[in-house]
Amino acid sequence: MNALAATSRNFRRAARLLDLDPKLEKSLLIPFREIKVECTIPMDDGKLASFVGFRVQHDNARGPMKGGIRYHPEVDPDEVNALAQLMTWKTAVAAVPYGGAKGGIGCSPGELSRSELERLTRVFTQKIHDLIGTHTDVPAPDMGTNAQTMAWMLDEYSKFHGHSPAVVTGKPIDLGGSLGRDAATGRGVMFATEALLAEYGKSISGSTFVIQGFGNVGSWAAQLIHERGGKITALGDVTGSIRNKAGIDIPALMKHRNDGGALKDFHGAEVMDSAELLVLDCDVLVPCALGGVLNKDNAPDVKAKFIIEAANHPTDPEADEILTKKGVIVLPDIYANSGGVIVSYFEWVQNIQGFMWDEEKVNNELEKYMRSGFHHTKAMCKSLDCNLRMGAFTLGVNRVARATLLRGWEA
Ligand code: GLU
Repeated sequence: MNALAATSRNFRRAARLLDLDPKLEKSLLIPFREIKVECTIPMDDGKLASFVGFRVQHDNARGPMKGGIRYHPEVDPDEVNALAQLMTWKTAVAAVPYGGAKGGIGCSPGELSRSELERLTRVFTQKIHDLIGTHTDVPAPDMGTNAQTMAWMLDEYSKFHGHSPAVVTGKPIDLGGSLGRDAATGRGVMFATEALLAEYGKSISGSTFVIQGFGNVGSWAAQLIHERGGKITALGDVTGSIRNKAGIDIPALMKHRNDGGALKDFHGAEVMDSAELLVLDCDVLVPCALGGVLNKDNAPDVKAKFIIEAANHPTDPEADEILTKKGVIVLPDIYANSGGVIVSYFEWVQNIQGFMWDEEKVNNELEKYMRSGFHHTKAMCKSLDCNLRMGAFTLGVNRVARATLLRGWEA
């Protein structure tokens, strides 16, 4: 099932559970605004190349719209729409005063030079500059983008509107970025995992983990889980997968990777088939990469007891049903990976206040928000007798619906 159909299906199920007015339900599903722009740049060889950029602004009832910009060959309107909608529910679950948006450019960032990426980012920003802003829509990094991408966006935006540090988050520290933002999604995943395991009388220490994805989210999640005594028995990224039953030495792997080594060349583990990664025996499976990786074909073979959705929509609805029947506990994306947008909010607040927090404050506040998100999600599960995905969706949708009604929406 495509990402938009899957996300909208979860939304509709939540709307039913909440007994939402069908007219309000329809209005919450339709995006506020969809932007599609042509981005043509000269490549390093002097030839022109054209790319298509998107920004979908899904909802702004709870505040400025917020969400990342993704550079990936699979970026298409449906995918961006689904991710924008997920951001609306995610910011509401996190209780940060934002709506939801998402953007992206269909491109292969790994094949573009640094100067091509800079030109592409600047042209994209020129095309959307009058539709984003500190109090309207605030982009951030996502797959294929990073703090440098945000620095170029900020610089280009500022040419039109003057210096506006809070127009993007996930910036480099030297340009007003927040301490702790880089690690925030991974740290949030770790807090979410801690909260979930505690419910079952378990802890990170003493549990075994399999992690799919070793980019920003996966590598931070792995380091922080390892630091808390979790045993990571396998992990993989686009280049391949590795395993070690005794547990992978994550600090040694980080050093290997920072020295330019590929996962498969790491000496402290054996290479394994990436297709096996998601069905390995472990306590906790943490997908941190692309969407739709758990589907009806592999879900019956999943052996993990818990799945933490560090990626956005990694579980297809068909897989969700199979996993629920098998008794696998799935902690949904809109809660599990909300650490990134929570610290984006702290960054935005610091920029507006003109006052920088220390890292301890950022991490302590993040922990409070993650604990509160878990507590409120569990409360919805209890009152509506539903699983964690529906608990999080109903929590998010209900908060957005309430804000919409308070603003004076009339049926
Ligand atoms: N791209 C991240 C996400 O999917 C962060 C978004 C943000 O910080 O605005 O949640």
